[in-house]
Amino acid sequence: MKVVHTIKEVREIVKEWKKEGLSIGFVPTMGYLHEGHKSLILKSVSQNDRTVVSDFVNPTQFGPTEDLARYPRDLERDSKLVESAGADLLFNPEPSEMYPPHTTTTVNTTEVTEHLCGARRPVHFGGVCQVLTKLFNIVTPNRAYFGQKDAQQLAVVKRFVRDLNFDIEIIGCPIIREDDGLAKSSRNTYLSPEERKAAVILSKSLKAGKALIEAGERSSKKVIDEITKVLNTEPLARIDYVSVVDNVNIQPIDTIKGEVLVAIAVYIGTTREIDNFIIEVND
Ligand code: AMP
Repeated sequence: MKVVHTIKEVREIVKEWKKEGLSIGFVPTMGYLHEGHKSLILKSVSQNDRTVVSDFVNPTQFGPTEDLARYPRDLERDSKLVESAGADLLFNPEPSEMYPPHTTTTVNTTEVTEHLCGARRPVHFGGVCQVLTKLFNIVTPNRAYFGQKDAQQLAVVKRFVRDLNFDIEIIGCPIIREDDGLAKSSRNTYLSPEERKAAVILSKSLKAGKALIEAGERSSKKVIDEITKVLNTEPLARIDYVSVVDNVNIQPIDTIKGEVLVAIAVYIGTTREIDNFIIEVND
């Protein structure tokens, strides 16, 4: 596996692969990789001749009060994981390589970014689509892989690729969890041992919400109330949002019907954690 830091190197390698008619899978990440990222890479390796992973903490998707400076980084550890998963190329650019001075073109998103994390993090999805536009143009993959962990991001990316005619198949992959149910996340490293224990409340609350729907409840409000009640049993948890939306347009719904996304964001201490489940209801 090769590790490269410049756009030029990626383009040269990809050009050779394309000459040979090879298919390319792409897994964009912000690094500090774990089993969740690895599952995406393994999926890409199984479906493509070559797999490229990007490892870049993208500054434009962080708001001014967010955790850009303290976001964990460890390229050596990441490259071992990427190589062990069978990827072919790891792209780790400096911010200056991706954003030369006077970068003035941005990507604007609407509707799918109105609610959930889009409402709480106003610059976030514009930044995500901006960096993906650049990475997609650099890597030119046939397929790109995203985790259901960031469910709104997956919906945004599917829409953005359709709206702007990127010829890339977007593939969603299931959430990988710790044994106690906590969704794996690079941000889990921020948690103190006490907070780590408390963080299990996210998946626990979603389990309770899901059980209610499976038992026949169709009122979004009742499901939100149940999840809120469980989250409030944990003194270290502070709710950012608990929402029930349709999983395509990410708009709030009163009645649970069709493909529904139940998503939460919760502060455990100062760490903001997200989790969700998707349920299909056709009755
Ligand atoms: P990040 O490095 O956090 O930007 O994540 C890069 C990709 O990995 C995104 O598509 C995430 O949705 C995905 N991802 C992160 N955590 C998990 C997880 N626990 N399970 C599955 N995919 C994940």
